[in-house]
Amino acid sequence: TEPQTKDPLAGLNDQQRAAVTEEAKAVAVIAGPGTGKTKTLVSRILYLIQEKGVKPSQITAVTFTNKAAAEMRERLAKELGSKRRLKGMTIGTFHSICLSLLCEQKGDVTVIEEGEALSLAKEVTDSLPGRLSPRRLLREVSKVKNGMAPREDPPEQLAQAITLYNERLRAYGVLDFDDLLLCTRDVFSALDKQARRPFTHLLVDEFQDINEIQYQLIEEFAKDSESVFLIGDPDQAIYGFRGSDAHCFSRFLKEYPDTRVIRLTSNYRSTPQILACALPVLPALEEGEPPRTLEARRAEGERVRYVTAPDEKSQAIYVAKEIGRMVGGMDMLETDAGIKERGQTLGFSDIAVLYRTHRQAALLETCLRKEGIPYIVTGRDPGLLSDQGRGVLGFFRFLQNPRDLISLRACLRELFDCPPDLAASLLQELSQTGRTLEELGPEKKADKAVEKVLALREDFAPRFSKAKPQVLVREFLLACAIAETEEFGHLCAAAAFFDDMPSFLNALVFGQEGDLSRGFGRAYASDAVRLMTFHGAKGLEFPVTFLYDVSKGVLPLDAPGRTADEEEERRLFYVGMTRAQDELILLSAKEPSPFLADIPASQLVTGCTFLPKPPAQGKQMSLFDL
Ligand code: ATP
Ligand code: MG
Repeated sequence: TEPQTKDPLAGLNDQQRAAVTEEAKAVAVIAGPGTGKTKTLVSRILYLIQEKGVKPSQITAVTFTNKAAAEMRERLAKELGSKRRLKGMTIGTFHSICLSLLCEQKGDVTVIEEGEALSLAKEVTDSLPGRLSPRRLLREVSKVKNGMAPREDPPEQLAQAITLYNERLRAYGVLDFDDLLLCTRDVFSALDKQARRPFTHLLVDEFQDINEIQYQLIEEFAKDSESVFLIGDPDQAIYGFRGSDAHCFSRFLKEYPDTRVIRLTSNYRSTPQILACALPVLPALEEGEPPRTLEARRAEGERVRYVTAPDEKSQAIYVAKEIGRMVGGMDMLETDAGIKERGQTLGFSDIAVLYRTHRQAALLETCLRKEGIPYIVTGRDPGLLSDQGRGVLGFFRFLQNPRDLISLRACLRELFDCPPDLAASLLQELSQTGRTLEELGPEKKADKAVEKVLALREDFAPRFSKAKPQVLVREFLLACAIAETEEFGHLCAAAAFFDDMPSFLNALVFGQEGDLSRGFGRAYASDAVRLMTFHGAKGLEFPVTFLYDVSKGVLPLDAPGRTADEEEERRLFYVGMTRAQDELILLSAKEPSPFLADIPASQLVTGCTFLPKPPAQGKQMSLFDL
């Protein structure tokens, strides 16, 4: 018998129902945070399947992260009563969808990970005179590939470096991250209608953060679609620095004037107090833009708090202490509004601490650890894949795909000290003859590094698809006699969040902000405080949200060689604040961010200054002797 299913329209408001059932070919749901856009998208998929008889294989949903895709899948499976009923449906990021399309057309496709791209870029810049940095080269390459063409022609040396870099990718037969989308667009647009995978019903979440190539891909995919459903919020566009254009909604509406626009205006997530603080920080409306309407559906709650600390360390201590107090049970909260008691219902996983940059996590982590508070840090750790880590990744990617020579190269060079010349000649031979590593001549096979890779491959191949990634990584390090440094500790901790090696490798290569995590303490059980950047928190919600160090120089961010886009930084602050459901705490350890001046003073509980007192009793010692 068919599993029981629920009514896909149950629990939706009128605006949301209208969006779910809209029959127009193109639908744009443009609405503020917490208005149920993502919920509406999920309901629309259910509606298409249950009420319209659409086959799952005719549905494609694009999400911003792999993790969001996995969650959507889970939610749908639950609603439909079984995973089987999702069979054939495509849910994923642009990159994962493009990878699968391209593999369908061209067989094996190897996409190199960021660190590998950097090492290729370094080879190029080293071979040229001048002082072009590899990072700068990659930034420029990415700009060109993402359609952010510079106004003037690049200087000759840069232009040459870009050409060389692209030639090198071609020589190795690999694609970089941006190529994956470009190449898919070109391959797909050249196909006959019959040969194309049909995108009968295309749904896109977080449309406001689409870049030029992604916009073109949507157009390409949508050519034969019966319906295109785009949802997002221009006020939450925060990826301009990566080539996204906050105006993509207005562009779409201009280019496709028949698009039916639906607005959702009820916010179900946050208390009225939180919304009253968040809305005023947004940039002023452009001329002709409709006014922002975001009505709080929730009952009145706590006022938003603003806490200052004399320095960053005391700020981090405050966060740890406050979280301990909130979860610890009945306790007194001292504010200028008086003293009140707090309930006991809060768990660690109800709390998030958001910061502007990853680097700010370290101090927080130290303080949380001291207090024994379990946490999960989500985000791309800059150290996660430095050199040796890339060698480990290279080994497993090579194991997965013996044609992936660039991964083989990373493994030979980073883990087994293979001289660059030998690695290069090996690679050349393998790619020109199409031989496998085993089929090499005896003297090449006798090379120490090659011998090791062959032996390890034999050892690990049978377990690759069965064992847990954390176990595989640990055993591999042991087998290579590599000591567990902090870097590998992070890699193992990240592996623990995945059930199988292929999905872990996929996250390492394609992972967006929200896809990779590592934890401390009881973190692997799910009750842990969440730490992540404002960017990484997009689309999520937490009962209690701390915004860490909302200070001058941090928001807007002052970084060397980069001018902050003030409007984008304002939207980022807005995204951060609107993650909070019940309680929002803003913190600053320096001069406050100028954006705070836009929050009406009457909305904020200020004067909560945190000054760590010298330790009097032994119990609090741990906090201060950092
Ligand atoms: P964001 O812009 O931050 O991505 P969103 O518009 O996608 O937000 P959702 O995450 O879909 O919003 O929903 C926010 C919260 O509101 C969720 O907890 C969701 O369950 C709840 N919600 C949405 N619609 C309703 C509704 N009609 N009744 C009750 N709760 C709702
Ligand atoms: Mg959403």
